[in-house]
Amino acid sequence: MEEGKKKKLWLYAVYGAIALAIILSIQFANPFQPKEIDYSEFLSRLDAGEITKVVITDTRVEGKYRTEEGEQDFTASRIPGAEIQDLVSALEEKGVAFSGRIENTFWRDFLFTWILPLGLIAFIWFFVFRRLSRRIGGASPISFGQSKVKLYDSSVDRVTFDDVAGLDEAKQELREIIDFLRNPQKYRSIGARIPKGVLLVGPPGTGKTLMARAVAGEAGVPFFSISGSQFMEMFVGVGAARVRDLFEQAKAKAPCIVFIDEIETIGKVRGGIIASGGTEEREQTLNQLLSEMDGFDPQTGVIILAATNRPEVLDSAILRPGRFDRQIMIDRPDIKGREEILKVHVRKVKLADSVDLRKIAARTPGFAGAELANVVNEAALLAARKNKKQVEEEDFEQAIDRVVGGLELKSRVMSEKERRVVAFHEVGHALAASLLEHADPVHRITVIPRGIGALGMTMQLPEEDRYIMTRPELEDRLAVLLGGRIAEEVIFGEVSTGAQNDLEKATILARKMVEDYGMSDRIGPVTLGLERGARLLMGEFSYGKEANYSEATAELIDQEVKGIIMRNYGRVKSLLEERRELLEEIAELLLDKETLEGEEFRALLQERREGSRAALP
Ligand code: ADP
Ligand code: MG
Ligand code: ZN
Repeated sequence: MEEGKKKKLWLYAVYGAIALAIILSIQFANPFQPKEIDYSEFLSRLDAGEITKVVITDTRVEGKYRTEEGEQDFTASRIPGAEIQDLVSALEEKGVAFSGRIENTFWRDFLFTWILPLGLIAFIWFFVFRRLSRRIGGASPISFGQSKVKLYDSSVDRVTFDDVAGLDEAKQELREIIDFLRNPQKYRSIGARIPKGVLLVGPPGTGKTLMARAVAGEAGVPFFSISGSQFMEMFVGVGAARVRDLFEQAKAKAPCIVFIDEIETIGKVRGGIIASGGTEEREQTLNQLLSEMDGFDPQTGVIILAATNRPEVLDSAILRPGRFDRQIMIDRPDIKGREEILKVHVRKVKLADSVDLRKIAARTPGFAGAELANVVNEAALLAARKNKKQVEEEDFEQAIDRVVGGLELKSRVMSEKERRVVAFHEVGHALAASLLEHADPVHRITVIPRGIGALGMTMQLPEEDRYIMTRPELEDRLAVLLGGRIAEEVIFGEVSTGAQNDLEKATILARKMVEDYGMSDRIGPVTLGLERGARLLMGEFSYGKEANYSEATAELIDQEVKGIIMRNYGRVKSLLEERRELLEEIAELLLDKETLEGEEFRALLQERREGSRAALP
């Protein structure tokens, strides 16, 4: 950087010197230049008989006159429009040798009317575009029609899985692709079909871009990177051309990885109500991308990775089989993950022995990798400013405060009280799931906030695919949904807004049981409410149900729905009340670790002799 700047300064200095030299040489360098005199002086010298020779041109009189030292060349401009005849007769009278010259102004005119303006335009164009392209992506103006693809050479600047902390599941899934890129022949000969496209999904700053580069680094293949927004900039029609160009380049370099960052900028749902020019451009680009993806044979060895932090806005066409049919979650790290990320980033920093990364990880719930990298850097900056030799714990403390203060993180970092409520809520779901006979087993419990609204999550994985469900199974599912709110009530004696989504789901489920599945004893095996086709309502389709029952039945339905919910509410509440201590123990553990895997959770229950479903009523 410093080196480059110096070079530039030198260059400017040289340019300046050359320009100065040219100007000076024009002004002074030619001592044999004729002397410029006034026309009046010319006339008076003519009168005096000093003029010896004259050449008349369209615009000037030039020639020689005598002085005491000898002859002097002169030049004077003629009076425009003055009659040449008078001058000629005056010269004849004095006996001066004279001649005329037609000035050849062709080259001069050509220079002024064509070369200079064109040169000026080219000059401006060059500078403007250099500026523009530098601001946008740093490509040279020549590559303007082509895609602004950054090609990372895998030998320099190599990123590997060692640089990506945590994210073990994602790495595991990507290993297969790395193996394919290293050794496409192996897969080709056996006829295995490798996915064309893999979509990395996760919140900003969690390492999606880093992960994509690491895949290329691990495989040792070229890595073409382009951001969705770069497809779209500047001129209409460029986006689609860029996609074509990108794939051409990639195929020539296969095996390789094409990485499309922020794919949601081109992959948003098509056909919105307001169709603007920009939308059309985006659709063209998207269509081109999709047809390129459909068109090429995955055996060529080009793998397309894409990243997004807004999967919900993606056009479903993108996710279809043969396109980005594989999706990998890149989540915010839990406390252990954060510690690992910190470890990666302190590799280049001199740490005091007293610094405990685990403690720093505990202080930074909700932070993603990008923010943690930022914390480490800020801490090092602070330490350097204080002229320390090593980064100490207090530097980290201050750095965390700074990063929290500078970001919208504030909204993401929960208060301790909130975290407790969320933890108990999630453990409530999980305990209910493990205690109820027909509920799906718990896969993972976490209090790491994800997206807007979801502060924690309990994931369950069904043991098998279900096409039909029995009434006890549905009731257990409903009971698990209620578990979160019940745990809050049991522990804190009050309920929060956190269960809104659970209650909504539970209500819909209970209503379906009554209206659609005929699972209510008092109403019996009838289907209530008829599904009507799509209805156009204020420009939007909505699917509604039309009542085919009486007012009295409507009331009965409401009672039955409420009855089902309350019965299950009571069932789970007594289960959790009996196991209050267990609930507390697991919640504390969850608060500490932030994520509990299904196995850990079950092992803990085993220890406490719980969760053996058969033993329960
Ligand atoms: P995303 O593309 O998901 O928004 P990036 O890949 O650009 O996030 O991450 C930004 C930076 O954060 C990375 O360059 C890296 O320094 C840091 N980072 C993020 N996740 C991790 C991780 N899992 N391990 C190490 N560093 C990470
Ligand atoms: Mg990114
Ligand atoms: Zn819940």
